[in-house]
Amino acid sequence: MLASFFMNEFDIIKQYFTTDSGRKDVVMGPGDDCALLQVPPQTLLAVSTDTLVSGVHFFADMDPVALGHKALAVNLSDLAAMGADPRWVSLALTLPRVDEAWIKGFCAGFFELAEYYNVALVGGDMTRGPLSITVSVKGTLPEGKGLRRSGAKVGDGIYVTGTLGDAALGLKQALGELSVPEPYREFVRNKLEHPHPRILVGQALRDIASSALDISDGLAGDLNHILAASGVRAQLDLESLPLSEAMTASVTQEQAWQLALNGGDDYELCFTVPGVHRGQLETALSHCGVKFTQIGRIGFGEPGLELLNNGKPYSMPLHGWDHFRGAS
Ligand SMILES: [Mg+2]
Repeated sequence: MLASFFMNEFDIIKQYFTTDSGRKDVVMGPGDDCALLQVPPQTLLAVSTDTLVSGVHFFADMDPVALGHKALAVNLSDLAAMGADPRWVSLALTLPRVDEAWIKGFCAGFFELAEYYNVALVGGDMTRGPLSITVSVKGTLPEGKGLRRSGAKVGDGIYVTGTLGDAALGLKQALGELSVPEPYREFVRNKLEHPHPRILVGQALRDIASSALDISDGLAGDLNHILAASGVRAQLDLESLPLSEAMTASVTQEQAWQLALNGGDDYELCFTVPGVHRGQLETALSHCGVKFTQIGRIGFGEPGLELLNNGKPYSMPLHGWDHFRGAS
């Protein structure tokens, strides 16, 4: 059984995973013991790895095309958060059985996104076991650049791209925990299954933002990483949180804020910008065609997060994010 799995593995890799990206910086792609990659002089290598586990990060019956897209997208989102240029990716797939239709679908979603960002698959592994996907992306940055979590300063504005909480809303709809009105169901499912990594925004922010990260575990928790790394306090204006029409049509304002602050899987960027760069920010992000919103500012005081509703302190429970169960 195991032998036949591995015999199939080579055929499958050859048939579905051997593509020529045309990238000249791939000296040796899959097929030898290691890939050989040409890192340009005076650049930093940015590397990030994420694992998606069936039943934890996605439903076992999730459409494989969407899953292929998402597995790469969530990794590219980490490169976006550093402002890096994506170049290479490796992929380790653990599959319960060889299901060619599933693999074909997964590859369709994965390679569509890889081609869009000109990312070459340079290696990987396939083993048998409970379904899980590990993707490792590699990108580059000019030496001395890179958006870190540690640069936020008093007076900086706090910004996010896109709208918040829509993926969490989609998950709650899928779990039957609430009902999203019919016209918005596809929108929220798409937000959950088809995140768009903000690569161009990250690159545009390299010389503008003082800190940045991607929102994978909910705005409140992720912003706290910036506050802890930078040793600063944030004031967040709840009424400024960008909410989609789907969100406001589906839940109360309080629930919407909860989902925006605690909901995971958004893959938007959260970043801080000094006032002096505000004009540059408008110009740079309008070129990317991505909506962004100021949601607060870095202020004086003990490191931590302060919630304001129309300028008045507001108290709300802030939870951790469990990908499978939604905000717990
Ligand atoms: Mg991240």
